[in-house]
Amino acid sequence: MINIIFPDGAERQYENGVTALDIAKSISEGLARKIIAADVNGKTWDATRPINEDATLKLLSWNDAEGKSTFWHSTAHLMAEAVESLFPGVKFWVGPAVENGFYYDMDLGDKKMSEEDLKALEKKMNELAKQNNQYIRKEISKADAVKYFSDKGDEYKLDLLQNLDDGNITFYSQGNFTDLCRGPHIPNTGFIKAIKLTNVAGAYWKGDEKNKMLTRVYGVSFPNQKELDEYVAMLEEAKKRDHRKLGKELGIFTMDDDVGPGLILWMPNGTVIIEELEKLAKETEEYAGYKRVVTPHIAKENLYLTSGHLPYYQDSMYPPMELEGVKYYLKAMNCPHHHKIFAAEPKSYKDLPLRLAEYGTCYRYEQSGELYGLMRVRCLHMNDAHIYCTKEQFADEFRGVNDMYLKYFKIFGIDKYVMRLSLHSKEKLGIKYVDEPELWIETEAMVRRVMTEANIPFVEVQDEAAFYGPKIDVQIWSAIGREFTLATNQVDFAQGRRFKLEFTTQDNTSETPLIIHRAPLGTHERFIGFLLEHYAGRFPLWLSPVQVKILPISDKFLPYAKEVFTQLKKSGIRVETDDRSEKVGKKIRDAEMNKVPYMLVIGERETMERKLAIRRNNKTEPESQTIEEFINLLKEEIAERKG
Ligand SMILES: [Zn+2]
Ligand SMILES: [Zn+2]
Repeated sequence: MINIIFPDGAERQYENGVTALDIAKSISEGLARKIIAADVNGKTWDATRPINEDATLKLLSWNDAEGKSTFWHSTAHLMAEAVESLFPGVKFWVGPAVENGFYYDMDLGDKKMSEEDLKALEKKMNELAKQNNQYIRKEISKADAVKYFSDKGDEYKLDLLQNLDDGNITFYSQGNFTDLCRGPHIPNTGFIKAIKLTNVAGAYWKGDEKNKMLTRVYGVSFPNQKELDEYVAMLEEAKKRDHRKLGKELGIFTMDDDVGPGLILWMPNGTVIIEELEKLAKETEEYAGYKRVVTPHIAKENLYLTSGHLPYYQDSMYPPMELEGVKYYLKAMNCPHHHKIFAAEPKSYKDLPLRLAEYGTCYRYEQSGELYGLMRVRCLHMNDAHIYCTKEQFADEFRGVNDMYLKYFKIFGIDKYVMRLSLHSKEKLGIKYVDEPELWIETEAMVRRVMTEANIPFVEVQDEAAFYGPKIDVQIWSAIGREFTLATNQVDFAQGRRFKLEFTTQDNTSETPLIIHRAPLGTHERFIGFLLEHYAGRFPLWLSPVQVKILPISDKFLPYAKEVFTQLKKSGIRVETDDRSEKVGKKIRDAEMNKVPYMLVIGERETMERKLAIRRNNKTEPESQTIEEFINLLKEEIAERKG
């Protein structure tokens, strides 16, 4: 018999070899129908795979994140089966679950996959799903696995096999399809009730542009039609709100081949938003006791050897420039520079906590295939800061950082968010994680306590911490329910030692400070990309590049328009006049296209009465106002950063 511990702490005995599905059935048939995978001792596991030792068990349904990703990854196998029947001879690379669905990379030889083909594929997948084929797991020797894929002529799977060892290799089969995969999968294809293949694109093998271009088919699937319909509606809306489309239409940013891929050129309208965000961050940080610093964009190799970025992070850095026999690198992170500022003067406990903030510019060499609008770029401006503190100060500092996140969420109307607390794994100490078992347990407990006390919703994930300490990843949802990873909040007990950072304690001994890395607003690139979608380009007044557009009905009213313009300008309002000789209807439509919050139509009556007719959100306000009244209204709305 084995002992199974449930999430609520209850314990029960089962026969050795019991499956999660058996256990679900022993509770109720209704429950069993919903179970698609399980968490067994912290690992996601097939619901039909025997459990052979004492275990903690969490049954996973579609409503769990791991359940969803298992569901989607299993659909990728189903798609591969359908592709194989429609495109015989196809070879497969990898087919993971992603944020919203799954993809599979494949080599179709000289054939092409069109949008039309996707329809046929969907149809085939639905047919196969209805067969209720089981996903069958089989352990296989490396020799047999190599033979299988050699016979099939699939060099991609053979490449994957190179890095796998005997005893660790499994095949999964469903219907007529067998794949090399470590799993897990859902019990059978019958769970997949609604499928949409969303996109077909090119993707370099292993993300390297020197390699062959493979075909990547994206899709998403659901356990019922209703959820698919809702998803499709959300996608339609997301298309209208695509940050690349809006960014172009609203003159926010551009890119240029001569400048280089992934290097964003911020246009005047985008720069207004950047400066408003920085103003907000600076005010907030000033209030929270941060000090600002400025550091160079490059540094000598030695700095990154000390920090450990070299050689571990080298692939993500631009290659070095060599000058007088010394190598210089573009910085991929601001931390090492800030550590040097900490070290520049002797520190005592009275100097702590020290909070150093900088909107730092970093450069990361993302693979070309990974670059995507503002979301994945090679030059980024980070809302960065490092807090150096004692262990006693840690809880307050960490809480302060969390409060700052929440304050920002309120300002930007972000109602849905989750914080993921990423923990270390004992087995990987000294390999993936700094070998400091006690410090890990201590700092993880500190973080957990702060989060619990502050009543902040969070989930814990094993084995995803940073090298040097536990971290919190913040996920937020846009107004249309799309998920974004915003930023991380990390605890670091290792970098301080690497850089020999010290402070004198009250007892005149030396100690290394703890370091918190934090960036609540993430990077300008990713955050403005998010905001474009979140607001559908219709920024609140305080962020709007143009806040007021003056629309004189004809040239006759230009003098009064000019007077209004000057008054607004003097009050620090971002105002423009549309003095083209167009009809006022056209002027209104254009201002509306540019999503300008306030329009002032100036005609005979306004000029005579020296008043303003105000259009807000494309509706005329019933009452006209004097210039002073209008300015006061704007100032209040801006000062409060109303959403
Ligand atoms: Zn698989
Ligand atoms: Zn940092």
